[in-house]
Amino acid sequence: MANWQDILETQLETFPAPISVEEAAILYSDASLNDLMFVAMERRHEQVPGNLVTFLIDRNINYTNVCTINCHFCSFYRTPGHEESYTQTIDEISERIEELESLGGSRILMQGGVNPELPFEWYTDLLSELSIRHPSISLDCFSPIEIEGIAEVSGFSTLEVLSRFRDSGLHGLPGGGAEMLVDSVRSGISPRKGSSENWLKVMGEAQSLGLITSATNVFGFGESHFQRMEHMEKIRSLQDKSISSGYPGFTSFISWPVMLENNAFGKIGRRRNLMGLGAGAVEYLRHVAVSRLFMSNIDHIQSSWPTMGLGVAQIALSAGADDIGSTMMEENVVSASGTTKTMASVQELKDSIIDSGFTPALRDSEYNLLNLFGVKEIALEV
Ligand code: SF4
Repeated sequence: MANWQDILETQLETFPAPISVEEAAILYSDASLNDLMFVAMERRHEQVPGNLVTFLIDRNINYTNVCTINCHFCSFYRTPGHEESYTQTIDEISERIEELESLGGSRILMQGGVNPELPFEWYTDLLSELSIRHPSISLDCFSPIEIEGIAEVSGFSTLEVLSRFRDSGLHGLPGGGAEMLVDSVRSGISPRKGSSENWLKVMGEAQSLGLITSATNVFGFGESHFQRMEHMEKIRSLQDKSISSGYPGFTSFISWPVMLENNAFGKIGRRRNLMGLGAGAVEYLRHVAVSRLFMSNIDHIQSSWPTMGLGVAQIALSAGADDIGSTMMEENVVSASGTTKTMASVQELKDSIIDSGFTPALRDSEYNLLNLFGVKEIALEV
């Protein structure tokens, strides 16, 4: 079996260098972090040349917390009829978007629970109305599990739901709900969430309709490095298929460790003294670096400040990430399980990028550059 030095050498010499799940798992477990980050940065500069690190002004909107899926790691959801359950109105959502517009934002990322109380028309009315009121804002809404839930309530296929939503103004889908696309892990943490195949199927359908999508990965449920690479392999395979069919594919890959502070999953883990739950900074940096090497067909790798903090997110920019995410403005799902920072200002993100030795650039959800903050000449040279 190859050792990590040989695998990294091949990655350094050849681009794109095919890397198997087994080889990537060896890098993940054994490689020196310095060497892994160095080679990941070489790859980053091949895939995304230059010194720019991008970010987005957007707002997360969690339109309903009613959910019937009951994921063990989730502290956000409330069951139907619960006294703390809520569903926002079109006007309430629109007001939030107005606040985003006043800050120069370009996208909302709207996700919620799987709410069986909302009829199909609630969604199409919402999308149509928001498109009219906020024509310059990209509506990236509803993760695959929500699309599945809406299909179940409406009797339409998931493809039909997506197609009708696109016609009502949907621009793209958030990558949420992927967590670990390994069914043996998935069935232990969210048994009602459906198989990894379902998530991939809905994403493939969205891409076939030209919708903008991203891929996510929550890790730290006690799975092995090999299983983490199995997750990435499923994303990479779908990306290959979508690109060869002429579809847009995933814009980016975004990973973060599961939060454990306020949920049943974390409490049970601590009670049983379970090792390997969540992930610290070093494990996170290894994950980012390996994903940069493995995802040779996805250009953008994002570092996650809401879960890791801005300090670690800055270091991840030297581990292969080329994007630091977005301002978010609010976040209620992951934060319910333990993150404390749910908003970053434009200045904070710009400063974090500059302090890390990179050049900040504002983008939209399709990674088109919107503002180079006066460094156009430098950007054009690279
Ligand atoms: S993670 Fe999403 S699908 Fe799972 S319980 Fe929470 S809101 Fe529902």
